[in-house]
Amino acid sequence: MQEAPTPRNEQKRIAALQAYNILDTASEQDFDELTQLASAICGTPIALISLVDKNRQWFKSRYGTDVTETDRALSFCAHAINKPNDILEVEDARADERFKNNALVTGDPNIVFYAGMPLVDEEGYALGSLCVIDHKRKQLNEQQQLALKILAGQVISKLKLRKKLLELENAGKRIQKLNTLLTLKEREAMQIIEHTPMSMALHTGEDMKIIFANKMMLKAWGKDSTVFGMPFNVALPELAALDFPKTMRQVYRKGIPYEQSEAHMSYLHEGQIKEFYYTYSFTPLKLEDGTVWGLLNTAYDVTQNVKSRESVELAEERLRLAVQSAELGTFYLDSATHEFVSSPRLKELFGFDPEEELSLSAALAQIAESHRYKVASAVNASLTQGSAFDIEYPVIGYHDNVQRWVRATGKVYASAEQGKAPFFSGTILDITERKQDEQRKNDFIGMVSHELRSPLTSISGYIQMLKIKAAKSNEPTITDIAEKAKRQVDRMSGLISGFLDVARLGEGKIKLNCERFNIARLLTDAEEEVLATVSTHVVNFANVEDVIVNADIEKIGQVLTNFINNAVKYSPFNSTIVVSCTTSGQVAKISVTDEGMGIPVEDQAHVFERFYRVESEQMKVVKGFGIGLYICKEIIESHGGKIGVNSKLDYGSTFWFELPVDQTE
Ligand code: ADP
Repeated sequence: MQEAPTPRNEQKRIAALQAYNILDTASEQDFDELTQLASAICGTPIALISLVDKNRQWFKSRYGTDVTETDRALSFCAHAINKPNDILEVEDARADERFKNNALVTGDPNIVFYAGMPLVDEEGYALGSLCVIDHKRKQLNEQQQLALKILAGQVISKLKLRKKLLELENAGKRIQKLNTLLTLKEREAMQIIEHTPMSMALHTGEDMKIIFANKMMLKAWGKDSTVFGMPFNVALPELAALDFPKTMRQVYRKGIPYEQSEAHMSYLHEGQIKEFYYTYSFTPLKLEDGTVWGLLNTAYDVTQNVKSRESVELAEERLRLAVQSAELGTFYLDSATHEFVSSPRLKELFGFDPEEELSLSAALAQIAESHRYKVASAVNASLTQGSAFDIEYPVIGYHDNVQRWVRATGKVYASAEQGKAPFFSGTILDITERKQDEQRKNDFIGMVSHELRSPLTSISGYIQMLKIKAAKSNEPTITDIAEKAKRQVDRMSGLISGFLDVARLGEGKIKLNCERFNIARLLTDAEEEVLATVSTHVVNFANVEDVIVNADIEKIGQVLTNFINNAVKYSPFNSTIVVSCTTSGQVAKISVTDEGMGIPVEDQAHVFERFYRVESEQMKVVKGFGIGLYICKEIIESHGGKIGVNSKLDYGSTFWFELPVDQTE
């Protein structure tokens, strides 16, 4: 027996055969009819469609036998496929060297005659053969040979058809799968669009048909979902007038995205022409091969942002104009780097040229020495504690040496930039004229008070003499009159002293004679004075520990007396006044609490101002000039202390001041 030689293109041939997906499939009527026909035409009991696989021949159709496959080594067809264009006809296998020992010849099915026409596909691969077999010697006539060839051609056609059908079926399945995927993707995309917090819409086609738009986009258009499926022009004529479809079509055609930021537009929206600012973009949606299949329309309504920015810009402009017309100087100080930026006007007020560089230390150096430390401390307090900055001080011009008084106000602001340190910024106003006015007023007050003092001293002396005389000549009416006149003169001289103090304070001439003393002593002195002078109220002095301060005892006494006198003046007959002193940390705090009329909240911050008096019906009957507390404030602050009031209308007030405790041994 000779085994069939392996065809040269065997590997490709096997691949081609496998591509038909036919091996080991069930029998099919189409093929069975062809083997039946071959057997009938050729007059053989057996006909087969045999496909030559790697190690076997497998029968797609078998007529006259139940065998489904045999070993390739025994295959007659394996011989036949080596000559793809010819029928291999073996008249008597028993006498043929190639087959005589073949088990299929020597045993079942006892092949004697064999004729097989190779099944050659379009690419020229012989996949197997259509063969007829007989148990006796035989020869095909020409018609039979022709018929066998034609039938083999039919088998190939059927195989091809079957393959096409299979491919079609697979393609159908693939398309179905793709469609499902597409629907899924579309649904996903719609979900994303729906839930994105910006206006989004999907358009397709040259007419920019609206496939889908999320709620925000529908709101921006002023429409509802009835616009889905409509061309842009039809659905949104008011926007179409703004040339959107043209731009969109260009994006669609060219496949290049388009973007606009803060575009201004006005259109009819829910029945009204409205103005909007939009940052929008048109993004082409492309297939893998680059063709544009749709357009994503995204828009972000920035109307509010633009409008608020515009109003901030307007406010800034107004502020700038106001600053300019009020001739205010402005400054900016970075709390971290101490970078100091000042306006030309500020430089001018400090005696520098407007273009000159001005550092913080150079600016501080121009502040009059009497005020420099106070200003630097106030700046520092603002920076570290955020306290309000409002301070008046004289500046000596750098180039011109001219003294100008300025009022500086400022505040610490958190930086708008994240991670940046806060900054201190404010304005500086020239108040030289006001200060000069005040000076003139002070000079006048000083002069008048001075001039009044000497005659008053004489009057006081004369009254004293009158009193003595009246007492000697026993004239009680005159004594009484002299007594009253004395009281009025005392009051007047008290007032004049106050005016003189004010005048001196205005000149910055407050002179302190500081000494270390015990606050307990101050309170004992005050208590003695109160015992001698106050009979209308109950004045209680709380127990005081020993606390040493370094201060002008006379002036501090003046403050305390002023507080007590006010408490007497502004609270009802027989009510209680409490004087106390507490220390906490490095600070001693002295308070005078009354049960009087109290001070309205809005007046509390002002009672320490010069000539300020609370206006009310009750106040009309209490005499005063509104300078006592002003003097107190100046005295306490010149000691580096603090002064204040806590008060509730109709319940009473607590006036207090604080002084630093002296720590030296
Ligand atoms: P004067 O008492 O001469 O008016 P002051 O400077 O001592 O001036 O006080 C200023 C103002 O503060 C007073 O006019 C008054 O309205 C208010 N005031 C001061 N002390 C008291 C107090 N103990 N109770 C209520 N109001 C007070």
